[in-house]
Amino acid sequence: MTDPHLNLIDGAWLPGDHLTENRNPSDRSDLIGLYASATAEDVDRAARAAHAALTPWQARGPLVRAELLDRIARRIDAEAEAIGQMLAREEGKILPEAIAEVRRAAQIFRFYGGEALRIPGEAIASVRPGVDIEVTREPVGVIGLITPWNFPAAIPAWKVAPALAYGNAVLLKPAELVPGTAHHLARIIHEEGCPPGIFNLVMGPGSVVGRAMADHSLVTAISFTGSVATGRAIARGAAAGMKKLQLEMGGKNPMVVLDDADLDIAVAACLNGAFFSTGQRCTASSRLILQAGIHDAFVARLTEAMQALRVGPALDPASQIGPVVSSAQLQSNLAYIELAHAEGCEVIGGGQSGGPTDGFFQRPALFLNAQSTMRVAREEIFGPCAAVIRVRDFDEALSVANDSDYGLSAGICTGSLKHARAFRHGARAGMVMVNLPTAGVDFHVPFGGTKGSSHGSREQGRQAVEFYTTVKTAYSFGG
Ligand code: ADP
Repeated sequence: MTDPHLNLIDGAWLPGDHLTENRNPSDRSDLIGLYASATAEDVDRAARAAHAALTPWQARGPLVRAELLDRIARRIDAEAEAIGQMLAREEGKILPEAIAEVRRAAQIFRFYGGEALRIPGEAIASVRPGVDIEVTREPVGVIGLITPWNFPAAIPAWKVAPALAYGNAVLLKPAELVPGTAHHLARIIHEEGCPPGIFNLVMGPGSVVGRAMADHSLVTAISFTGSVATGRAIARGAAAGMKKLQLEMGGKNPMVVLDDADLDIAVAACLNGAFFSTGQRCTASSRLILQAGIHDAFVARLTEAMQALRVGPALDPASQIGPVVSSAQLQSNLAYIELAHAEGCEVIGGGQSGGPTDGFFQRPALFLNAQSTMRVAREEIFGPCAAVIRVRDFDEALSVANDSDYGLSAGICTGSLKHARAFRHGARAGMVMVNLPTAGVDFHVPFGGTKGSSHGSREQGRQAVEFYTTVKTAYSFGG
């Protein structure tokens, strides 16, 4: 066992008030490490340090920031194997997926290194002769970043990188289940020369650390990814403090398969979208909406492919699906499988599965004969389970796809240009996929949803400038 891993506050590694165990969901006997839980006082210290560090940091200009982000990207790439091992060990996604996620984090830092040198602005002619108008973007200030456990490298990266690129200071609070990856990233950011106070890592429970960040008067904006319930709680606190807010809260993403779809493409897209990463993605394809003519053939092919998936420890090269992240999540998934039976679905697969180690393994599941009104077709399960809904035609498919409180990602598999186009335009979702899984996005374009999935401006791509900057309009006369 190595030394405890501490919080990074104002450039110093500090212990918080107690230590929390980080255990491997593939093998509960594997204690990964002990991580320091910060207190509300630690959050206060970090927020004050961030506030004090802002003006000198901004005065150094964008090139320093661009170069810092570029160095961070290179270090992440150089250490991708080690970070990926940690990610797979603490979160449970299989090693190739974990390493790919880490490389994506590096790409995100590199992308925003470039964006730091392209901060947009405009000069616009005034309606008053002799007056010049300049519209520029300035940093928002101290930003609180609250992240979930399912992408322990990519989500912190896609919040930290734009926050730093546009000249802000940050407090990052990673999810309690995955402090190891965030701690490694924090060490890199610190060692590559980020000034004290500009980047702070405060680990610990959301109810203490996250809440203290959301309530702190010096934290001017909060970017959160997590559950709807927590997002709502944060929104209430943020409203009281009039903070800028960005929330990403999940989905119940539809994947429509029409009769004219290429069966190989459709099965591959649904297998990936529904079950890869153990279904623990807010963009997972959790509703498969199948046109009647292809339904039976598709279900037969998908069932065969699903049952051939090897569930096992994340670091075992033979595994294709890792464990569920925690005991609580596994119990929740199993309860939804029971509910699917109770609501009248035919359940294929599912259930806890044994493994070579003491982990939270679950067989993937399909809920056949689901209806759009059922809870299993409406609530986000966040596990390797997909509800299958049969429809008559394209119009019914689109209507069922849109019949959700969420609107993150929506997919269609079809050979018809007409239907693909109608779906792209008609789907009420922030992201639309044609002949591709609903999950799996590029790192340089906007990410986010509509309806109950998201609140505030989009993350990622150049669109991130909306959240991480504020606009100044300057008028000048004379000279
Ligand atoms: P999940 O169920 O996927 O873990 P949560 O919404 O519970 O999603 O957690 C997402 C992030 O929000 C985590 O970092 C968690 O610690 C944090 N969090 C939980 N409760 C609060 C809260 N009341 N205020 C701020 N952050 C919170």
